[in-house]
Amino acid sequence: MRQWVRALTLVLATAAVGTMVAARKPGSAVKPGFNLFSKQQDVQLGKESAAQIRQQVHVVENRELQDYIARIGRKLAAQPEADGQSFEYSFTLVTDKSINAFALPGGPAFVHTGLLSAADNEGQLAGVVGHEIAHVAMRHGTNQASKANLLQLPAALASGVLGGGGGLIGQLAQLGIGLGANSILLKYSRDAESDADALGARIMSAAGYNPIEMARFFEKLEAEGGQRGPQFLSDHPNPGNRVKAVEQEIPFFPRRAYDAEHSAEFTRMKALVAKLPAARALPASRNAPQGGAIDPPSRSARTYRARTYEIAYPENWRAIEGNEESVTIGPKQGIIGSQSGQEQVGYGAILSYYTPQSQRDLPGATNELIRNLRSTNANMVVASQSQRRVRVGGANALVTNLASGSPFGGKEKDVLVTVSRPQGLFYMILVAPERDFAALEGVFNQMLQSIRFQ
Ligand SMILES: [Zn+2]
Repeated sequence: MRQWVRALTLVLATAAVGTMVAARKPGSAVKPGFNLFSKQQDVQLGKESAAQIRQQVHVVENRELQDYIARIGRKLAAQPEADGQSFEYSFTLVTDKSINAFALPGGPAFVHTGLLSAADNEGQLAGVVGHEIAHVAMRHGTNQASKANLLQLPAALASGVLGGGGGLIGQLAQLGIGLGANSILLKYSRDAESDADALGARIMSAAGYNPIEMARFFEKLEAEGGQRGPQFLSDHPNPGNRVKAVEQEIPFFPRRAYDAEHSAEFTRMKALVAKLPAARALPASRNAPQGGAIDPPSRSARTYRARTYEIAYPENWRAIEGNEESVTIGPKQGIIGSQSGQEQVGYGAILSYYTPQSQRDLPGATNELIRNLRSTNANMVVASQSQRRVRVGGANALVTNLASGSPFGGKEKDVLVTVSRPQGLFYMILVAPERDFAALEGVFNQMLQSIRFQ
């Protein structure tokens, strides 16, 4: 598929970015916020999401290391503040050099080997795990989804989706809530961060770890990370003065002496991690297109920022900027011939704006765009008359399935997603040979869900 570049009159929106950190008195209780989900739905969402994540990561195949992480996790999750009776905590170490860890709603937590390597002692590792447990216990992920003002969410949650066909995760995906990079479920506000620091510190202390190690580790990451800090810090933004804030909590915890730093065992685990084999390629049928036409997309993400939108995409893909807010994003083998504006995209995504000539409403403008696309690509057809409505970047979007010929041979599936914006009709075309589309669907969904308009 060619890249279509349309002229666009830019209306620069000025966004006032302000972060208000609510003042919580040290020592006072940390309370969960507004939530439309039941705790049981948190657990269900976490289970479904974990099943998906497990297909995208390399779970470390080393019993000793997994036991070690699970032991630390269980010790923390056993504290009353973790509410282990409501949630189902699990702790999994995955082979990934990036410094990251994340916990899904309801309890499944994943720790990257890079995080273990970066920690100076077990207290720091436990600090990250305790902090993640606090997010789960405070239900920050589903709290944020609840606050996103999605009109259909209460109905979706009330309609007995528990045990439904597509599962809760499918229902939420329809509303634009997913697990991708920048997912609303995993990217926390500064308020949530200071609450997770405070509760995480309390949990650590109760489990015998010096809570200050958590704050120290976060500040160390910040100091080392420079401008491009690890993903962890963009998901868990610094609420400011972390060490001091945790120090102020400590006098309110029951007095106790903290255990030694378990340094012998920790050092041994770090050595084990260093000796782990490099991550094997994931099963081809799951996340790599057949025949190895392209490399499997990496799970860690980078963000492309245009003036009017941003989108996250797999770290090992590249973004080729076009004219006026257009970009082509895909695996390097998926984009052929890169004289500017003339790329053939066989695998990847094209993002741009179209200026409708006569139609202003979303379906009308979308049809006009499709006619336009077809006039430059004679092979393109509308594959299915039925269009779906989804949410993208907090706005209504229309999904249309198109088809054309693939530069890689055979049929190509082109999924067109359109959104009415002040600047024109924003569109994204997700492209892959028909035979490989399903393998990339997860990545495409994550990209869609990561879109933020300015
Ligand atoms: Zn956090």
